[in-house]
Amino acid sequence: MTADADMTTEARAALIHALAWQVELGADECLAEASSNRFEEATPAPKSAPRPPAPAHIAAAPPATPPVAHPVHEPPPEEAVSSARAMAAAAADLPALRAAMEGFDGGALKAAARNTVFADGNPTARVMFIGEAPGRDEDREGKPFVGRSGQLLDRMLAAIGLDRRSEDPATAAYIANVLPWRPVGDRDPTTAEAQTLWAFLERHIELAAPEFIVALGRAPAAALTDRAVRITRERGRWISPPRAGGRPLLPTLHPAYLLRQPAEKAKVWRDLLSLRAALDGEAPRIEDEP
Ligand code: URA
Repeated sequence: MTADADMTTEARAALIHALAWQVELGADECLAEASSNRFEEATPAPKSAPRPPAPAHIAAAPPATPPVAHPVHEPPPEEAVSSARAMAAAAADLPALRAAMEGFDGGALKAAARNTVFADGNPTARVMFIGEAPGRDEDREGKPFVGRSGQLLDRMLAAIGLDRRSEDPATAAYIANVLPWRPVGDRDPTTAEAQTLWAFLERHIELAAPEFIVALGRAPAAALTDRAVRITRERGRWISPPRAGGRPLLPTLHPAYLLRQPAEKAKVWRDLLSLRAALDGEAPRIEDEP
């Protein structure tokens, strides 16, 4: 007989309800607040030991009252923007910028994330790829694009002779995101979040100083142009918005979108060939923005 079998139908229903509520909020993993010693747990209780009574919180679970959320300090938007600006401007190099972002009061977005996902690849690369925000795998590992879309991105890079692990700037790639923290439920970054954190990305680009930037998807294209972007219309055209610091910027489709819409890969292949041509010395034709 399991402890579960001791539970009343109401208590079980209450627990299931509470679990469903957490899933709705975006919880997708079971983690305890403190680590538990599984070896100790595995020690069998002596046969004669009386069965301990069911803990009160299980036996008498209240009907689906949401757990009390710990309040997170949410700095007012203007305060957050000016503090991000000051911290980013004070960062003299990439390690200092990473430390600044790790020390930034990122409110609920940061509080819900496990890691600050700063960047991956070689910062001396000629081209910097900018994605949207970390997902579950990236949040866990602390590196951008390590999940399924990251594997596709690596294959896309390899197809044009680039590799994020390369030490040679000519064949290297540098990868970062608009948001360094995983949004709960893997929703898209909001405009407000992108605006608040823009100073960090701007400084990141300045310090890495790539020759070319590739925006992977709508959110980075919007952050870099400071306007709404229809990525399916605007992809594949080189632009040079002020936020790219005079560099040619190529918006393209996000690898996660390509996983859902594989037929769109042909378009991205054209974009990759255009990037390859630019890296090979063919000056990109910069178009006016819509
Ligand atoms: N999608 C992104 O935009 N960035 C990542 O790091 C992972 C998935």
